[in-house]
Amino acid sequence: MSLKNNKVKYESMVEVYYALESTTKRLEKTKTLADFFSGIDSELLPVVTIMALGRVFPVWSEEELGVGSKLLIKAIASVVGVSSDDVEDQIRDQGDIGTASEVLFKKRSQTTFFSQPLTIEMVYNNLRKIASISGNRAQSRKMSIIRELLSLSSPMEAKYITRTVLEELRVGVGEGTIRDAISVAFGVDKEILDRAHMLTNDLGWVAQVTLEEGEEGLKKISLKPGKPVKPMLAQLAKGIKESVTEMGRVFCETKYDGIRVQIHRKGQEVMVFTRRLENISNAVPDVIEYIEKSLPHQDFIVEGEIIVTKNGKPISFQYILQRIRRKYDIEKVMGEVPLTLYLFDVLYFNKPFIDAPLENRRSKLESIVNTSENKIQLSKLVKITMDNVQEAENLFTESIDKGHEGIMIKDPQAPYIPGIRGKKMLKYKAEPETLDLVVVGGSYGKGKRAHFIGSYLMALRDEDGGFQTIAHVATGLDDKTLLELSERMDKIIKHRKGGLIKVNPHIILEIAYSEIVNSPEYESGFSLRFPVVKRIRDDLSLEDIDTVARVKSIFKG
Ligand code: AMP
Repeated sequence: MSLKNNKVKYESMVEVYYALESTTKRLEKTKTLADFFSGIDSELLPVVTIMALGRVFPVWSEEELGVGSKLLIKAIASVVGVSSDDVEDQIRDQGDIGTASEVLFKKRSQTTFFSQPLTIEMVYNNLRKIASISGNRAQSRKMSIIRELLSLSSPMEAKYITRTVLEELRVGVGEGTIRDAISVAFGVDKEILDRAHMLTNDLGWVAQVTLEEGEEGLKKISLKPGKPVKPMLAQLAKGIKESVTEMGRVFCETKYDGIRVQIHRKGQEVMVFTRRLENISNAVPDVIEYIEKSLPHQDFIVEGEIIVTKNGKPISFQYILQRIRRKYDIEKVMGEVPLTLYLFDVLYFNKPFIDAPLENRRSKLESIVNTSENKIQLSKLVKITMDNVQEAENLFTESIDKGHEGIMIKDPQAPYIPGIRGKKMLKYKAEPETLDLVVVGGSYGKGKRAHFIGSYLMALRDEDGGFQTIAHVATGLDDKTLLELSERMDKIIKHRKGGLIKVNPHIILEIAYSEIVNSPEYESGFSLRFPVVKRIRDDLSLEDIDTVARVKSIFKG
């Protein structure tokens, strides 16, 4: 059955959300989505695909809704006919804005009997319109669109519209589930689909190609400047010698401790994306300027690491994040936080290069980058075989001495494999091991630190898109960072009892530890000995954090 596009009611999307929220089982979620997708025609499919993720723009889009909870609360209050305080009370009672809206809308006097039903298209178009509003009276114009949508909403519709507006759908669906659902709905191979997705990160478009052209169409999809690619990831190396024995010959490179960027040139436009695929072009005009000067004006995608140096030495990674989060006065901080870019790969140069072996890609990179501008360099590389392993060890020591993190060990014959943490690229570091975990709760400190959340409850990701706790961490942060984190935690509180809070999973911390041990105290069944917060990882997304499966495999050794 194919439904006529502009007639598909938002109510049917809401039923899907509700079904998704009612189960934690990934297979059930996949089936629900697959059944839904298979009834949608090709024009609307990209829209429902992206809305199933609770978004109206792809992750890498520069556009954002930009609606704060205050504005949304005002809109709800005015549609329901209560005060903003009443809405806030309800949010506190229910623990989230969606459920609070549902309750409030149920109590609202019935005025919508004869009004038109909302369609998926209407909701989608109106939300996208919100993002484009700026300038004069922007807030009140945004508010009037939200009010219009809400005034046509049933209680359940209000629940999910409000959550979508705040970009917090919370139905436990990630890109992996959506991909599985597309594969089931249209009977295409998961790996072929995966590849197309890793290359374009545009699930809506990938879904549409699947429906219209099947596997053949998917196979033709390749990367395109302008659409960020999921980066190839590194595994831990056991040792330098072991890696060389395994691969025969290797490329060893300095591992720079900054943020990974993918730089795209498409026509006249240069774009910079993080490994989370966020477009940060506006925050790094200096990097764009170096690129303009040092690389040919042709379409390309190159990859590298941005670091901050002071007197020739790299300085804390946090400075770069602060700089990138900063939306204003970029020029002012540019001088204070000078960036250097180390390029290490090329994925596209007038044509895709990802299938070429690393050694060919590296030669290509060397031939296109002009490094006379000091701000752009190529990663330092030595070619190693069993005969000169000592040189790899020297590079490692030199890297550490210069304040870098260690070395990367890469297979020169390997293609670029987007999104996969494989054995073709390894990292070898001097530092203790760390896990990237998300904060799901915390408790307030005592005495001088009573205003701060002093202890953080950390969780891993599980296979069903949920989270399982593994440790409490209470050390490693200075007072300034504690204050910043406490403020951020305040905004995502889900539940509070005495000094204990539960929060929505948003903040990712890198935690160093001495050992993983079995423990019935935490949901994962594991706990960490001597956990210490190393840093805030705003450059990662929830999909990047460590998983229960990974901890199991580290535990086994
Ligand atoms: P990790 O983030 O610990 O998984 O280590 C891999 C990361 O090292 C990559 O995602 C890059 O951000 C970073 N990196 C630094 N220098 C290099 C390099 N020369 N080649 C590849 N990755 C590098």
